[in-house]
Amino acid sequence: MQCTGSGSMPKETYFCTMLIQDGYAEKGMRRQLVQILKDKGISDEKVLQAIEKIPRHLFVDSALKELAYKDMALRIAAGQTISQPYTVAFQTQMLRIKKGDKVLEIGTGSGYQAAVLLECGAKVYSIERQKELFDKTKVFLAQLGYAPKMVFGDGYKGLPGYAPFQKIVITAAAPVIPEALLEQLAPGGLMSIPFGEGDQQKMILVEKLADGSFTQTEMGDFRFVPMLHGTQRP
Ligand code: SAH
Repeated sequence: MQCTGSGSMPKETYFCTMLIQDGYAEKGMRRQLVQILKDKGISDEKVLQAIEKIPRHLFVDSALKELAYKDMALRIAAGQTISQPYTVAFQTQMLRIKKGDKVLEIGTGSGYQAAVLLECGAKVYSIERQKELFDKTKVFLAQLGYAPKMVFGDGYKGLPGYAPFQKIVITAAAPVIPEALLEQLAPGGLMSIPFGEGDQQKMILVEKLADGSFTQTEMGDFRFVPMLHGTQRP
């Protein structure tokens, strides 16, 4: 994205343009990425179609554009990462998204996971604790035509005013399963949570049963940046 304006203007009035360049080369690379994800076991057609459609190269810095369709996590602003496409696809598939599901995402980051959820037909609420990323991603997603409900805040608290959620996806490594998020999950709801500190996390699928009790299923090892407390401004 390119923004121009003078220092004396309020930032909101800057003129911002994004070069939405999405050609045959990018589309071809996305088809290859979808094949890689299929080979790794992703079979949810809605998820695969979302990945085939969304221009991931626009979610990363232009210097990393060449790597955007490799199945790898990449650096974004504020020392954070855009998750590996396989991880995004895996977490989305785990949640068995149905059209109209209310989904809460913790960790908006680049907005890519939110875009995938929207393309799958979910109504998306997303929380980000880093102000710099929050501001940047809000403008960017709107330019691409995506409009999740975005909140600057601490994901440990969830969004009680919008609960219950049919699905919750945490996209940072959680050292505990946040109590507030368990409460905000609808009966019959599913939560995907990368659990644990250190280098590697266990992906856990939490299901809230009709009687309000929970089951947990381990779904394999993944790596995430940590889920931190509170909010951060630059
Ligand atoms: N879903 C993102 C992945 C971003 S990485 C994407 O598709 O690009 C994880 C993000 O979680 C980071 O942006 C980080 O700032 C954010 N985060 C970490 N702890 C958080 C918390 N307690 N509440 C909200 N966001 C949090």
